[in-house]
Amino acid sequence: MNQHTGQCQCGAVTYRAEGLRDIWFCHCRQCRSLTGHYMAACRTERERIDVTGEVRWTAVSQRASHGFCASCSAPLFWSNSELPTLSVLAGSLDSTTGLSADGHLYVAEKGDYYSIDDGLPQFAGRPAERL
Ligand SMILES: [Zn+2]
Ligand SMILES: [Zn+2]
Repeated sequence: MNQHTGQCQCGAVTYRAEGLRDIWFCHCRQCRSLTGHYMAACRTERERIDVTGEVRWTAVSQRASHGFCASCSAPLFWSNSELPTLSVLAGSLDSTTGLSADGHLYVAEKGDYYSIDDGLPQFAGRPAERL
C-alpha cells in the first residue's frame, strides 16, 4: 500500500495519506503568493487522508482553500470544493519515497526570476485531463 505521513513545522498537525499521486508544481499567482515561490503538491481522495491536530482553512477563491497549521501557520493542504481529492504540499511530507515529479502547471503565470529546466512537461494552465 502506497502510504505517506507528514506534519507541519511545529508538529501540532500530522497526517497519514494513502494513494498519493505524483507531485505537480503549480506556478499560478495564487500558489506563488501563498508559498513564497511555487507550489509542489500531490493529491489523493479526501477520505484517504487522516489528519490529527487543528488545521485552519483560508478561502483563496470561490472554490479553493488552503489549510494551515493553526499553531505555526505552515501550509499543509490545498482543496478545491469541486474535486473529490485533497492535495498535500510536498514539503510537509516526512518522506517522498515512491513519488516522483510529474510536471508544471500555470507556467504562463510563473515568476520571471527563475527558469524551469528539469525537462518535465509544462502547461500554460491546467490541462483538463489533469484535475
Ligand atoms: Zn504547526
Ligand atoms: Zn496554483
